[in-house]
Amino acid sequence: MKVSWRGRVALRAGVWAVRASRLFGFGGGMIGGRVALVVYPGILRELSAGRRVVLVSGTNGKTTTTALLAAAMRSAGAVTSNSDGANMLDGVTTALATSKAPTAVVEIDELYLPQAVAQTAPAVLVLLNLTRDQLDRAGEIRRTAIALRRLADTFPDLVVVANCDDPYVVSIATSFANVVWVAAGTGLNEDARTCPHCGHRLSADDADDLHWQCTRCGLFRPLPQWWLSHNEMRSPGGDELGGPLVMYDGSLVPLQVNVPGVVNRANAAMAVAAAYTLGVAAEKASVALSSVTEAAGRYRTLGVGEHEVQLVLAKNPAGWAATLNLVCADRTPVIISINAGEADGRDTSWLYDVNFDRLRGRLVIASGARAADLGVRLSYAGVDHLTIADSPAALETVPAGPVTLIADYTSFAQLRNTLGALSDGH
Ligand SMILES: [Zn+2]
Repeated sequence: MKVSWRGRVALRAGVWAVRASRLFGFGGGMIGGRVALVVYPGILRELSAGRRVVLVSGTNGKTTTTALLAAAMRSAGAVTSNSDGANMLDGVTTALATSKAPTAVVEIDELYLPQAVAQTAPAVLVLLNLTRDQLDRAGEIRRTAIALRRLADTFPDLVVVANCDDPYVVSIATSFANVVWVAAGTGLNEDARTCPHCGHRLSADDADDLHWQCTRCGLFRPLPQWWLSHNEMRSPGGDELGGPLVMYDGSLVPLQVNVPGVVNRANAAMAVAAAYTLGVAAEKASVALSSVTEAAGRYRTLGVGEHEVQLVLAKNPAGWAATLNLVCADRTPVIISINAGEADGRDTSWLYDVNFDRLRGRLVIASGARAADLGVRLSYAGVDHLTIADSPAALETVPAGPVTLIADYTSFAQLRNTLGALSDGH
């Protein structure tokens, strides 16, 4: 990493910006990267030179997968990461500017991925999934997919670790020469019923939607080199642990994942495959990532008064589908907070693509700035609920014990702080 005089000036400006920001009571963090990029747009390229950069992108699971992969890579040396979830170019710049670690594992918003690839020349790109999110900002996913496919024209040799169960990811990754395919999905999601290339309806030849293909243009699910075994193991307490990870040569890698849900076993599979591609033994990577129990507050459990509150982020239909699988394993009361703030996308029409009816019969409270919109949606789904816009006040109406609080992006950030301050550190 050789930084030019212009780069040094930019970094110094960034440091001062962080100090000033903290002085006036704002957070620090990515403001440093933002200012450095404004002063000298080439700074990210300079900070990346001579380092091994790994980019993690996709719509859902970036922050958790990045935490899992960073933990796996730390078993082989120092790693820097944007572990706070700041996933635009400024967050990546901050992660690289604040550490001399030779390896950087960073998440990047899919809309900024082309710029991030151009500037960081990554050793590996991890592509998780591509689903609708923030319709008013990102538009339809076909447009994003076309932009990402074009990356292969400029960077044909980029090594991509890709989820072969997501047709959009496949339509992008097949453009690259070096792809490691991981079966990380749980079947076709609702955003990928038609072919990303030609729009024809995808056909799946078995009940679990695994082996999909397009009969018009020939796009098909590639054979994975890594997949999750369906042979389930159970802990002594009876909790489902899920089976091991299977490598391309048939060998089994025990997978102990301590962030909840099937979706995070899939994220862990992607992380182990990526770590292995970067030279870390699969078993070693798997053991190392078991230390991760939360990622930037996602899945964190807070003791707040009489309640144990688990915080879950869900911000689009595909994220909600995974979250419903997680919360429907028991009957814990659920508080849902929807703000639809600037960073969430103002358009809440996506709420009508979530199968909220699965929450029927339990205590459900609609909260957040758009509690009323959410309440209407829950009524259409036949879910009896209360509407209390203030989430901490909503919590007080719930009987003592465990509560799941599911929030969109801006509600999540607020509640992580407000409930964190109320937390008694359980
Ligand atoms: Zn097709």
